[in-house]
Amino acid sequence: MKSLAQFCFAFCVAALSSFAAHAGELVRDYPLAKIAPHTYVIHGPLGYPSVENQGFMNNPGFVVTHDGVVVIDPGSSLQAGRMLLKQMRTVTNKPVTHVFDTHIHGDHWLGNQAIMEAYPKAKLMGHPDMIKKLSDGEGAQWVATMEKSTAGFTKGTRAVVPDVPAADNAEFKIGGMTFRIYAPADAHSHTDIMILAVEDSVVFTGDNVLNQTIGRLVDGTFKGNIAACDKIATINAKHYVPGHGPSGDVTVVTNYRQYLATLFNTVKQQYDLGQSDFEMKALVVANLKPYQNWSRFELEVGPNIGLAVMEIEAAM
Ligand SMILES: [Zn+2]
Repeated sequence: MKSLAQFCFAFCVAALSSFAAHAGELVRDYPLAKIAPHTYVIHGPLGYPSVENQGFMNNPGFVVTHDGVVVIDPGSSLQAGRMLLKQMRTVTNKPVTHVFDTHIHGDHWLGNQAIMEAYPKAKLMGHPDMIKKLSDGEGAQWVATMEKSTAGFTKGTRAVVPDVPAADNAEFKIGGMTFRIYAPADAHSHTDIMILAVEDSVVFTGDNVLNQTIGRLVDGTFKGNIAACDKIATINAKHYVPGHGPSGDVTVVTNYRQYLATLFNTVKQQYDLGQSDFEMKALVVANLKPYQNWSRFELEVGPNIGLAVMEIEAAM
């Protein structure tokens, strides 16, 4: 049996090492999935950025071209981006030549720093309005949010801002592959691009599509997001990688569209009947039965009803 002193020693060492562990630490590994001949995705856990998930909860992906690697959404921190690179090296030694950031929310692009640290010549690409907003300083709040929600795990992360615009309908030929950009207006964040890797028939949707989880549509619009889903569904690609949650076929898109449309249409109908957002909530929740077990549903359904009401009133 251990003495009290031994126990204290072991405990203190454990406590100290967990306190000091963050400097240079990587986000823990999540499985790397090959979803198409050249395309790989790490599906992050669902939920908000936290101490437990080390702030990592998005779906970083990459496409291995003839000349190098194209990364999509390298994650929420320097530490997440380094984890992505570590896993990437298990399948290729080619350098990263390009990064597409799907939108301005920090959980998707703060990993840019890790890519540029390892591959300073890589081109960072994003929506023109994302580049503008981040160049005006909007990145600092995302750095601070991540650090706070992880109790300092992401310390050392800086906002490394894309500088190559990827606008609607742009097409990039990279290493023998084709990347087509869809930039829907007023969808999830007003800075969204969706990327079709043509030869692999894979669409990276950013947060215009989520699976098994919902977010708060605080920087976008329901109508624009629904239109974005419709647009990207018509491509009928083989694979869709949502911003969060498992990848799948086009039903991932149509299912999320159904969630958005059911919420918005129920709110509109009840609003027209004179109901307040509080009064209509029970009916909205009942109509969203297939989504009630999705991550964050209980916390986010109320705020989303409020946002739908605001959108309806703004259109009047
Ligand atoms: Zn996100």
